[in-house]
Order: sequence, then structure tokens, then C-alpha cells
Amino acid sequence: MAALVIAEHDHLNLKASTLHCVSAALACGAEVHVLVAGHDCEAAADAASRIAGVGRVLVAAGAQFEHGLAENVASQVLALAPGYSHILAPATAYGKNILPRVAALLDVAQISEITRVVAPDTFERPIYAGNAIAVVRSTDPVKVITVRATGFDAAGSGPAVPVTAVEPVAPDGGSRFVARELAASDRPELTAAKIIVSGGRGMGSGANFKILEPLADKLKAGMGASRAAVDAGFVPNDWQVGQTGKIVAPTLYIAVGISGAIQHLAGMKDSKVIVAINKDPEAPIFGVADYGIVGDLFDIVPQLAEAL
Ligand SMILES: Cc1cc2nc3c(=O)[nH]c(=O)nc-3n(C[C@H](O)[C@H](O)[C@H](O)COP(=O)(O)OP(=O)(O)OC[C@H]3O[C@@H](n4cnc5c(N)ncnc54)[C@H](O)[C@@H]3O)c2cc1C
Repeated sequence: MAALVIAEHDHLNLKASTLHCVSAALACGAEVHVLVAGHDCEAAADAASRIAGVGRVLVAAGAQFEHGLAENVASQVLALAPGYSHILAPATAYGKNILPRVAALLDVAQISEITRVVAPDTFERPIYAGNAIAVVRSTDPVKVITVRATGFDAAGSGPAVPVTAVEPVAPDGGSRFVARELAASDRPELTAAKIIVSGGRGMGSGANFKILEPLADKLKAGMGASRAAVDAGFVPNDWQVGQTGKIVAPTLYIAVGISGAIQHLAGMKDSKVIVAINKDPEAPIFGVADYGIVGDLFDIVPQLAEAL
């Protein structure tokens, strides 16, 4: 039994999600191999070879992998699939783009967003916005799994294991890279941030989000938002935390002017320490908060930043 983890990387560095995914693969009790499909990706492959518990790294290198087009990576995974009982990828935009294609072409059911491995064929996954946990058993010959990073610790580092080049598949031809628009930010990316300061509809406007910046600067925090704040156009879409946004579990999550709807909680309730600032003492966010401040955010946030 062997598991293949599809590495998420930028050709130089591995994304942290890959480390969590390796832990899930190890919990399946299988020998774990990591596939690095990329272009000039020796550095990422070298990093993968130093993840504790990994037995082997497979590198598929070619220009067709430069932009991470899902069609090409899925074809590469399919070429390697016959040797594996489990194929795993992080439940990020990257992994969620690739694995459904792999599952469909292998004619198996994808097991999505697992948070625990009960047995090699049995997994836990949240349903109903995290209000219930389903235990699912798969009878498919190969388990195709996306892994919710917050459910598994990041694998540590270990001695380097062999890196083997595999024959890269020909480009799929079904898609073509056109352009990439990157949101430039000096702040940590939300899913990797150790501290997050999030604002909700209570912020009142996009301009008012500026008052969160000194607080986020002091804490070196990433910045997030509720869907109401995103839908109102206060902040960009990629800031959204929640069921239909990003799932985060930082060490500290500060929710400012966020009521705590279940769809928001689904994305952040696994944070280690939750601080809520809200003028409504009945706001549901206080039900999950470790520390709550009842009051006007426009008074409290500057005071908090000042005190820090
Ligand atoms: C299918 C579906 C998926 C969804 N997915 C998501 C998701 O991924 N993420 C998400 O966040 N939501 C999601 N939602 C929306 C969710 O139901 C809520 O509507 C949303 O989270 C509310 O955002 P909010 O807390 O910012 O706004 P509100 O609920 O309007 O809360 C604003 C809060 O700010 C407080 N406030 C106002 N002014 C001040 C002030 N001056 N000082 C202090 N506090 C103040 C108020 O007391 C209130 O509690 C989803 C909904 C559906 C139906």
C-alpha cells in the first residue's frame, strides 16, 4: 500500500498545506511518496525530500507544469496512479482543481476535505458547515482524497530521501495559460497566517478597514473578513473566511464587528484563541470566543493597538 501526495508549491518552496497533507497520508498507514510536478522545481523537490515520513519524491519536470494547469497535473497523476492505493492533495484551490479530474478519470468517488483518518478506508469529514461530522468508508480500489489542512499537524523535517525523475506527460491541450493576476501583499497569506485580524459588516466601509491595519501590523497578522464585508465590497474576495471562503485555524483570531454566523464560524472556529470585539453582547461570536470585548470597535481597536 502506497500513498501519493500531490505537492502544492511555487517551484521553489512547498506550501505549508503539503506538510499537513503528508501527515494525513502517513495516517493512512501507507508508504508515502510526494509528486512534485513543476518547472525548474529542483528546490521544491529537495524540500519535499526532507519531509519526515516521506519515502520517495517523484519529480515530473516540464514547461507544461509551469503554471500549475490542473489538466496537465491531473494527467501526470493518472500516469502514476496504478501504483497507489491513496492519492491525496490539499483541499486548497490548487488541490480542489486537480483531484476531481483524477477521481472522475479513475471512475472513483472523491473523498473531500477529510479532517481525520479513522482507518485506511474510513475518514471523517465535516458536513453542514461543520455542524456535523460524517464518517465515510470507501470501497473504491484507490482512495482519492482532499485534505483539510486544519485537521492535521504539519509533518516535520527528516533526513533527505531519494528524488526520482519520472517521465513528464505531454501537455493535455485542453487548457492554455493566459495570465495571472496576483494580489500583492506584505501580510502573511490567510491560510498560513499564525494571527488573523478579521473585519465584518460592523466595519461599515472599506475605508474603515484601515483602522485594523495598525493592529494587524503590530501582530504581524494576516487580514480576513466576513462574507458580508466582502459582498459589500469593503475588501477583496480572497479575504473571505468561512464555509465558502478560506478555512483557517491560526493561533489567534481576532473578529471585529463580526456577528458569528455559522457559515463564518465554519471557517475559523478551530483557531486556538478567539478574540471578539462586538457592540452586541448577544452576538453569537461570543459563544466561541475565548476573550470578548463588548463595545464600539471604533473606540476599542485603536486602544488595543496602542496598548500592544
Ligand atoms: C450558503 C452560505 C454560505 C456562506 N458563507 C459564508 C462565509 O464563508 N463566510 C462568512 O463570513 N459568511 C458566510 N455566509 C454569510 C453568513 O450567513 C452571514 O451573513 C455573514 O457571516 C455575516 O457577516 P457579518 O458578521 O460581518 O455581518 P452581520 O451579521 O451583519 O454582523 C455585523 C456585526 O457587527 C457588529 N457591529 C456593528 N457595528 C459595530 C461597532 N461599531 N462596533 C462593534 N461591533 C459592531 C454588530 O453587532 C453585528 O454583530 C454564508 C451564507 C450562506 C447562506
